[in-house]
Amino acid sequence: MAIGPNRYLALALRRPRFLGWSGEESGPGRRSIELAGRAVLRGRAMGLLFVESLPGPKVFKCKHCRVDSASPAAIVSKEFRGRHGRAYLFDSVVNVSFGPNEDRQLMTGMHTVNDIYCSCCQRLLGWRYEKAYNEDQKYKEGKYILEKNMMLKE
Ligand SMILES: [Zn+2]
Repeated sequence: MAIGPNRYLALALRRPRFLGWSGEESGPGRRSIELAGRAVLRGRAMGLLFVESLPGPKVFKCKHCRVDSASPAAIVSKEFRGRHGRAYLFDSVVNVSFGPNEDRQLMTGMHTVNDIYCSCCQRLLGWRYEKAYNEDQKYKEGKYILEKNMMLKE
């Protein structure tokens, strides 16, 4: 799933220092972040915070601030482990901001990941797989881990 401009809006709103980030990236280009940054300056002037709502019962929400994070329809697998126990793999999530790319040795090999944070309360929710180095792990690229401990379901 493509990363919409609203995600960067949220990221830039809460983490202005990222606007000057010039690290390596193979995902969306730096230009889109800078563009979003300009949009955010306007949004902030108007006092807006962009929050996306998901339809339906049993939506996964940030445990801390109860903003929607993911739809149960977006679950790819429930058989994952996060830092704090069980975790789910999702096709798409909403209302998150992204940390920089980091290479991490996980149980299934080396991956490039971005930590993901709730865009409202900035709690760490999980991570996104940017790149998997093993062929049999490629299906995870572009997908998201949310830790069960960080979620409410309502
Ligand atoms: Zn939150």
